[in-house]
Amino acid sequence: MGRALVVVDFQNDFTPGGALAVAGGDEIAPRVNALAASGDFDLVVATRDWHPADHRSFRQQGGPWPAHCVQGTPGADFHPAFDRSRVEDVIDTGVTADAEGYSGFEGTALESLLRERGIDTLTIVGLATDYCVKHTALDGLRQGFAVTVDGAGVRGVEVQPGDSERALEEIRAAGGVIV
Ligand SMILES: [Zn+2]
Repeated sequence: MGRALVVVDFQNDFTPGGALAVAGGDEIAPRVNALAASGDFDLVVATRDWHPADHRSFRQQGGPWPAHCVQGTPGADFHPAFDRSRVEDVIDTGVTADAEGYSGFEGTALESLLRERGIDTLTIVGLATDYCVKHTALDGLRQGFAVTVDGAGVRGVEVQPGDSERALEEIRAAGGVIV
């Protein structure tokens, strides 16, 4: 059966200098690129946080976050150190004002794409461990995929210290594997 690498939201706004920077977010590039180039995966797919300017998660709209990953802005671009030559598909999330979009599966074609390609096993890397990685992993498990999160390929926001470790614990408790 098929294996896919899912690279979550490796975008400028989630890396140092970005609007919603994750500490060390840029440091995942070597691991992400090595996995993508490893030949271990039948499919490499990238998700992208891709919000309208009035997205409900932004503070101006009463949400928890500064404006980030606004469609078509440099902050929404993939990080330049992310080698996308093996990426076959890009899945946009949170594309309407009301779609939260923490999970790559929420309101997207990700599940059908994976099924069409005969994928049953996911390795997830990207940003951020405690939000979009967590929700994508948990949704993947709910939908019956085997899910591994690669610890060297993720970093967390850590709004509260320990959030990333708690997120990984939640994924483990739901049946995921952390390596
Ligand atoms: Zn977002």
